[in-house]
Amino acid sequence: MKWEKLNKDTVAFTFDTLEGFDTSVYVIEKKDRIYVIDTFCGPEAMLPIIEAFPSMKTKEVVVINTHFHWDHIWGNNAFKDKEIISHHLCKQLIIDQWHRQINENSKYQMGDVQMIVPSHTFVDKLEWDDGMLLFHSPGHTRDSISVYDQETGLLIVGDNLEMPLIYVEAQDLEAYVATLIKYKTLNPEKITASHTLHIEKYMLEETILYLEALKVEKSITFKDENKQLIHKTNLKKIGRLDN
Ligand SMILES: [Zn+2]
Repeated sequence: MKWEKLNKDTVAFTFDTLEGFDTSVYVIEKKDRIYVIDTFCGPEAMLPIIEAFPSMKTKEVVVINTHFHWDHIWGNNAFKDKEIISHHLCKQLIIDQWHRQINENSKYQMGDVQMIVPSHTFVDKLEWDDGMLLFHSPGHTRDSISVYDQETGLLIVGDNLEMPLIYVEAQDLEAYVATLIKYKTLNPEKITASHTLHIEKYMLEETILYLEALKVEKSITFKDENKQLIHKTNLKKIGRLDN
């Protein structure tokens, strides 16, 4: 696991244990609160992060799940007595998909993975007095939320942006594009995504173009083999096996 300071308040911890997918967990430390964004594959992965922030013992800890996927929530057990926040759909999806996700990816569990569901959920947005804002940002999945630190301008988008190409799981492409346009409107200082630590502005534009092309069912072929594979997976997910 590597770590990198993204700004005065934020550290990204990046794990390389899932082949081909670097995955980051973020800690944002404010005056009275300390936010943990996503919990990766298990409580064992969270231990060094908890250790790195002794202030978690004294400050209010707010854990955020960006969406229901296993590689973002399995470490919730490390924070079972803390406040865990997600979109209201996320909580339901964690419950509904728990066994399937465990069965399909059990080898990636790190430590005692238990179903710890969010203790608080919201529908549109949630805001704190220290400038932290959570908002519903459907795209990659229906329950995806984004974290915006209005003080530093850091936008954490979960799996809504990713290089070389996004994984589209929800079928509502219109909503996905609307979310990305909202990201543009915010004009963030920096964008970071769970599987791509540094998102450049052009990646946001490229992703919008890709989704627009998918929307109008334009036939798309990528020269890059990996991108083409992801694209095919996306076509399957949205119920379209064209070409
Ligand atoms: Zn995901």
